[in-house]
Amino acid sequence: MRILLHACCGPCLLEPYDALAGQAEVDVCYANPNIHPAEEYERRRDTLLAYAADAGIRVAEIPYDPGLWTAAVAGAGEDRRERCRACYRLRVGLVAAEAARGGYDAVATTLTVSPYQDPDSIREEGERVCAEYGVRFLATDFRERYPEATRRSRELGMYRQNYCGCGPSAVEAADEREARKVARKAAREAARTADGQAVSRDGHRR
Ligand code: SF4
Repeated sequence: MRILLHACCGPCLLEPYDALAGQAEVDVCYANPNIHPAEEYERRRDTLLAYAADAGIRVAEIPYDPGLWTAAVAGAGEDRRERCRACYRLRVGLVAAEAARGGYDAVATTLTVSPYQDPDSIREEGERVCAEYGVRFLATDFRERYPEATRRSRELGMYRQNYCGCGPSAVEAADEREARKVARKAAREAARTADGQAVSRDGHRR
């Protein structure tokens, strides 16, 4: 069986590729018009290409056209879940079209290695859009391999991004980091206050 594997970035390629390459002939397709800005797109792509070159993995790139992503998610409005669904559909669809052109039997995606993605939405959208192109969608769930993917990508010194990819996700990720920072600070202050009260009570007892 020949599989065309959609890859979102180098770190996420590591484990899914190895898992699938044990059972089939696997080529990779970098199809990610969601990534913003262009410099980030190129950085993720170049990280992936450098690893693929070392590992002897063939990679096709779908030319970067961020307007495709903007049009695809336009109907989702502020609904993050719907936005991601549309994004999955777009990216897997680009790979499915490439797979149909190249005579591949099936399409899969590295997205399911990430605990931050929704495997059910990926499966539903992947199956739907692949059926339109007459290729099979391999529904995978590589999340249990995420810790190993993280370990390996760190060991390899790969670039590891801190947001999913689109412009809104960069803002959301920054907001979430800030919220965690504020929560940690509040927890430290609460612990200090509790310590102070304990000392004060002990002092009173003495
Ligand atoms: S958060 Fe990630 S999956 Fe969702 S729309 Fe943005 S790039 Fe796509």
